[in-house]
Amino acid sequence: MNVLVINCGSSSLKYQVIDSVTEKVEAKGLCERIGIDGVFSYQPAGGDKEESEKPMPTHNEAVSYVIEALTNKDTGVLNSLDEIDCVGHRIVHGGVNLTHSYIIDEDVIKEIEGCSDLAPLHNPAHILGIRACQKLMPNTPMVVVFDTAFQQTMPPKAYLYAIPYKYFEEDKVRKYGFHGTSHMFVSSRALELMGNPEHSKLIVCHLGNGASVSCEVDGKCMENSMGLTPLDGLVMGTRCGDIDPSVVEFLCKKRGYSVEEVLKIFNKESGVLAVSDGMSDFRDIADAASKGNDRAQLALDMFAYRVAKYIGSYAAAMNGVDAICFTAGIGENNGMIRGMICDYLTFLGLELDSEANKVIGEEKLVSTANSSIKVYVIPTNEELAIARETVALIK
Ligand code: AMP
Repeated sequence: MNVLVINCGSSSLKYQVIDSVTEKVEAKGLCERIGIDGVFSYQPAGGDKEESEKPMPTHNEAVSYVIEALTNKDTGVLNSLDEIDCVGHRIVHGGVNLTHSYIIDEDVIKEIEGCSDLAPLHNPAHILGIRACQKLMPNTPMVVVFDTAFQQTMPPKAYLYAIPYKYFEEDKVRKYGFHGTSHMFVSSRALELMGNPEHSKLIVCHLGNGASVSCEVDGKCMENSMGLTPLDGLVMGTRCGDIDPSVVEFLCKKRGYSVEEVLKIFNKESGVLAVSDGMSDFRDIADAASKGNDRAQLALDMFAYRVAKYIGSYAAAMNGVDAICFTAGIGENNGMIRGMICDYLTFLGLELDSEANKVIGEEKLVSTANSSIKVYVIPTNEELAIARETVALIK
């Protein structure tokens, strides 16, 4: 089956066509600046990337260009639209009711719309992407896969906030956790690498520009460091992560900011960007730190320290840990950060293999044979996870 995987933002649309049998990416690309001026890119497997400006007033034009490129006589990978067997859409927030993946119908779309207040930047954009695909491919089955679904197994003691219960019951205020598709993909791959043991305790560190930690007992998610929104938890590229909520009121009063202004600061102007004084990319930060930039070094220290604290707390929550997995841009590529995090965990008997830990972007066991905890680098693949879910449901 050919699966078209769509990841829609408010002004962007990422796409991939994946062959569900070989699990190879046949083509991929990105529509950017939708509603502004429109930039389109397309790359068939083994071919060159093409990029051009194309007018994209709405997501409808973006999806049309995707289909046009995929079926192009010279560079396309499909003969016609009919060769797209199904479409999988990534959706950020499924609220409390959308607990797994679903074949799209009007009821499902209504539910996604219903939790737009929980992800106002994402869910409305996802619906635009779904509608645009439905318009061009009215008879093609489509599936939605939620970033919040994998975390639905968290117990109430993990997902409830200790505030009056009516805010949970009436307003659905609770921890949801995010990056679920990545945590699901990486944890299930780790279990395969461990020989699918009957019982297991895993911790997955998804360390990218957005970053989160999760823990899984026997494959089921028990915790995720993100909360009601993806602002919570780790220090991230531009997000502050854990913070005393009173800081909001304090800054509003002291600086005359609105709540929205403070949240914009927390989301877009904080994290390692703020600590390092202007850098959010870990390659730049690591480079500056190696040249003696103290603020860059502090950003690395704060990042690693927060991840290590989460790992420690999740090891306690599970009363043990068999394996820790690193994934996403930083987790897969930055051995120095992995080392800094693991240095906090030697008291648990964790022993990193410094030679193996030099690995960049490849699946590898990076702990020693003597280590009491296995440490893996496992590249994430959210698109493949979405394609697998889509095919499983369609079948
Ligand atoms: P992501 O959001 O998963 O794309 O991750 C983005 C982060 O990964 C950025 O901070 C990058 O600096 C970091 N990253 C990506 N590639 C590398 C690399 N080869 N070495 C170190 N860091 C990297």
